[in-house]
Amino acid sequence: MNNMQIIRGFRDILPENIKLWQKVEKEAKELFEDFGFDEIRLPVLEKTEVFARSIGEATDIVEKEMYTFPDRKGDKLTLRPEATASMVRAYVQHKMYASDPVRKFYTIGPMFRRERPQKGRYRQFYQIDAEIFGVESAYVDANLIFLLNELFSRLGLSDLKAHINSLGCPDCRPDFQKALLNLLESKKEELCPDCIRRKESNPLRTLDCKVPQCKEALKEAPTTLDFLCKECHGHFETVKRVLKQQNVEFIEDKTLVRGLDYYTRTAFEIQTTSLGAQSAVAGGGRYDLLVKEMGGPDIPAIGFAIGFDRLVEVMEALEKSADKQLLDLFIIALGDAATEKGYYWSTDLNLKGIRCEIDYRGKSLKALMKRADKLGAKYVLIAGEKEIKENALILRNMNTREQISISADNPVADIVGAFKKNN
Ligand code: AMP
Repeated sequence: MNNMQIIRGFRDILPENIKLWQKVEKEAKELFEDFGFDEIRLPVLEKTEVFARSIGEATDIVEKEMYTFPDRKGDKLTLRPEATASMVRAYVQHKMYASDPVRKFYTIGPMFRRERPQKGRYRQFYQIDAEIFGVESAYVDANLIFLLNELFSRLGLSDLKAHINSLGCPDCRPDFQKALLNLLESKKEELCPDCIRRKESNPLRTLDCKVPQCKEALKEAPTTLDFLCKECHGHFETVKRVLKQQNVEFIEDKTLVRGLDYYTRTAFEIQTTSLGAQSAVAGGGRYDLLVKEMGGPDIPAIGFAIGFDRLVEVMEALEKSADKQLLDLFIIALGDAATEKGYYWSTDLNLKGIRCEIDYRGKSLKALMKRADKLGAKYVLIAGEKEIKENALILRNMNTREQISISADNPVADIVGAFKKNN
């Protein structure tokens, strides 16, 4: 194996693919800011405890997917597998609730999970994450799902559907769990080894087991919706009513349990049909108990994470291209004197927002004209020794082939003027 190759499951996002990433990031930031979210930036490394306690010891993420290692002093550290736990850690650590418990944050960055890599599933992947602290009302649940829907529609994606469910609360969950455990006990001969284990450690997870035999055995399993208490039922009804009112299409999905321990009440996922097995583009839910569990006061919260890589892949599948940024101007400077001047002009033009390049390799006019073509330059400025001497540079419009002559004294102003007139 070549040691200079990238690690399995990690990848480079190359410049030729970056435009969609930038487009998504720009749309997301604009939308979140309009909806009152503030950006927060969090470290990628945390104490292992931050994730183990919150996500849950008996989840796939904590059991087998985290990149955990001792640092040089022996402290156990983990590369973050998701952002919510760090977000709650920060909210509690900085006592943000003290001045105002109601906070709305978003963050964008890499996450790390040692899953089996395949298309749409990487060991370093990116998430766009938004969380609302301090509000129990179902309006914010609906608002977050609305927000996701709006972002996807601004990005031109229409084959996405919200799946929603309610997981209940500590008042109603025990009855559901009892009923589920009874069923699991009676079907234990038919379950896969993972589900046998989950039966003890995290019974809810058996409900989204992908093994066909388990699916069959648990076809008639009780669902959290059957057991919701009056408050949880009312909460879920409000979420659905508001979404309907706002024309957000959704599917009530009783099998949606999500892989993390901390969820209560509303859980949701945005799924696509265009990515094959990795169909979830975003997921989230309410976690009313987590702030307290992580050492803060009793403050409800809800959030979601969008899988940035998968979102871009859906867009690529639909050929949603972002416009390729072409060059505005290519400066052809021939000879040392012209090159020195050309260097200052190009910097000035860059500062004025004009995407401009100059070539320093001493190539011929013919070679440089070819290069201007290759870079897709809209204009070329020709500054040879003759043009400098005669104080008449040539500005050529590469589309119309029209050429104008401009003075070498202050070509930047003339070029900016030409751009204003023509663009
Ligand atoms: P989760 O934190 O598991 O709810 O994931 C939220 C979203 O992140 C998912 O819906 C996926 O779109 C994305 N995601 C999760 N794991 C991966 C991964 N290993 N590679 C790429 N995207 C992922």
